[in-house]
Amino acid sequence: MYAAPGRGLAAPQVGISERIFVMDATWKDGDPSPMVFINPEIVSVSDELAVNNEGCLSIPDRTSRIARPARVDLRWQDLDGDVQVGSFEGFAAACVQHERDHLDGVLCIDYPEAT
Ligand SMILES: [Zn+2]
Repeated sequence: MYAAPGRGLAAPQVGISERIFVMDATWKDGDPSPMVFINPEIVSVSDELAVNNEGCLSIPDRTSRIARPARVDLRWQDLDGDVQVGSFEGFAAACVQHERDHLDGVLCIDYPEAT
């Protein structure tokens, strides 16, 4: 993910059929803080939408302008199998939803371009 360089990577992108993704939404702006999400489930999303330009390591040299919920509450298991919950906003919210989509075979290009 860091070498690509990207902010998230889902297991299916590297040929692994597991419900796992890694993310570090802010490493390009500061110190690395990688997170691992196993069996992530979106618990709730905000009604408010936010538009971001999303790139994808599986679709080089292309970005898509996508409207997604601005905030997402997620539940997942960590590397120890412990259940974690967290809220994500801003670009991290878009990244969580983008990577979570990969686990269901959904790509950012499957969304309509936001205006
Ligand atoms: Zn992607």
